[in-house]
Amino acid sequence: MSNLPNCPECGSAYTYEDGSLLVCPECAHEWSAEAEAQNEEVKVFKDANGNVLNDGDTVTVIKDLKVKGAQSALKQGTKVKNIRLVDGDHDIDCKIDGFGPMKLKSEFVKKI
Ligand SMILES: [Zn+2]
Repeated sequence: MSNLPNCPECGSAYTYEDGSLLVCPECAHEWSAEAEAQNEEVKVFKDANGNVLNDGDTVTVIKDLKVKGAQSALKQGTKVKNIRLVDGDHDIDCKIDGFGPMKLKSEFVKKI
């Protein structure tokens, strides 16, 4: 079994478990496997200011955004209610008046 993560320091694939720690034989780096696993499970979504976003939050758009297939751009300051966070390049699922369902990037919004 070798589903152990590579060494975060040097990228070595020869890591091994030592109790609750993972050890890299190449650079002698030791780290906790549990902390590593938790990091991967919980993805934190952050807005342009680094505030954590949650499902159901209301955000505003911080810059004009072109919308594929729409006549006009999504204007800076547009309020977006009840966002839903999803995995992906565009990580906010939402519905915007006049535009309908669409996806935004969290880096272009601000929590209000
Ligand atoms: Zn290493």
